Amino acid sequence: MTDEQWGALQGNLLKAVGKNNYASWIEPLAYDGLSKGVATFNVPTTFLGNYVQQNFGDQILYQMMGMGLDVSRVRFMVPAGKAPALQASGAGTRDGSEVEAAPQPAEKRHSIVAAAPLDPKFTFSNFVVGKPNELAHAAAKRVAEGGPVTFNPLFLYGGVGLGKTHLMHAIAWELQTTRPDLNVVYLSAEQFMYRFVQALRDRKMMDFKELFRSVDVLMVDDVQFIAGKDSTQEEFFHTFNALVDQHKQIIISADRAPGEIKGLEERIKSRLQCGLVVDLHPTDYELRLGILQSKVEVQQAQYPELELDAGVLEFLAHRISTNVRVLEGALTRLFAFASLVGRPITLELAQDCLADVLRDSERKISVEEIQRKVSEHYNIRLSDMIGPKRVRTYARPRQIAMYLCKQLTSRSLPEIGRCFGGRDHTTIMYGVRKIDDLRMQDGQLAEDIEILRRMLEA
Ligand code: ADP
Ligand code: MG
Repeated sequence: MTDEQWGALQGNLLKAVGKNNYASWIEPLAYDGLSKGVATFNVPTTFLGNYVQQNFGDQILYQMMGMGLDVSRVRFMVPAGKAPALQASGAGTRDGSEVEAAPQPAEKRHSIVAAAPLDPKFTFSNFVVGKPNELAHAAAKRVAEGGPVTFNPLFLYGGVGLGKTHLMHAIAWELQTTRPDLNVVYLSAEQFMYRFVQALRDRKMMDFKELFRSVDVLMVDDVQFIAGKDSTQEEFFHTFNALVDQHKQIIISADRAPGEIKGLEERIKSRLQCGLVVDLHPTDYELRLGILQSKVEVQQAQYPELELDAGVLEFLAHRISTNVRVLEGALTRLFAFASLVGRPITLELAQDCLADVLRDSERKISVEEIQRKVSEHYNIRLSDMIGPKRVRTYARPRQIAMYLCKQLTSRSLPEIGRCFGGRDHTTIMYGVRKIDDLRMQDGQLAEDIEILRRMLEA
């Protein structure tokens, strides 16, 4: 590794582990050399070496591999002469005391090569649980106990930014502490394919197979990626079956249910459905608020001088879409912006600073959606909702739908009229007013409307 590469590696590590960790643990490392796949770093004390090996060893290894270096192991040595007297006397034959917590068995070393690094923030304690994700969270927790395999695979699916990767990493972190004996491998489907293609190219298919089959817990993220990639699917299928046969736990994620992944072989779909399939629902207001409250603590620790007005988090939870990543990004930006301009975080500042995000995540609810939801709710046919029949069973839901269209869309009355079988705009206005009046007198109706509004806005 050149000095330049070492510099780049330090930069990456700073990003990956954070400022404090970096200053305490990475900065004291001195790169010594790389030979026969072993990278050596000098450390001032055995304690530090041990700690870095255990907590950042994998990280450093992956980063080096990512830079294209031919490395399969990292070690941390207290240079000869510097070693504390006690240790030096014990290790007379060696020129320095090597810190290697416990030599790893061969296949364990292999599996490290196959896995992807874990995000230190993606733990169970950082995961906020709410109605939309409680089932997925409970299933993930169960798997993380590392007990006997009861459902295999665990299949987590849901839209972008709803916490699939977070939960998978959390399982891996937890297993690392509760069951260090287990060989846990997390990687994306893309990385799986990449390794597979590499093995084919280098004629190392036997190694590849052996490596994946020696895993105790296999996690493959974003499996929709291998749809349509036939030979990768084939290999994945065999790996999958081999592990299931040995009662090894498998955890899979995707952006949709197994049956809905186009270009995925039927036999794979049906095997994926054999275990427990749980979905992460789009976040609701309460969950978004909970997540914001937990993330705001991190921000406040970073910017202790910033004042946060009451109501700002509620505003964001209301107005920002269901994707948690977007929500987090907005919060980070808001704090950075406020700190930059030296102003307290008010509703106004939030609106200013996040105008684009707020605009993008304005949910565009369509008239058709409203008509469909309302007719489902009242158990009538869509054609009757739009059609001419005037009996109360159809007329009332129709008026409710008109009311919601006025409230939740930016369509004009004539436009709404057109969507309701070409009715006149005065008819729509009458319907909207009627419901507005009834809402005041009829608690049940008011509640129905509230439920519908929530469902539509979710
Ligand atoms: P996915 O893999 O489903 O696209 P991620 O797991 O990458 O989504 O989550 C996106 C971001 O949102 C991550 O930073 C993650 O920590 C955060 N996040 C998602 N759900 C939650 C939650 N329930 N509590 C806390 N953070 C969450
Ligand atoms: Mg993900």
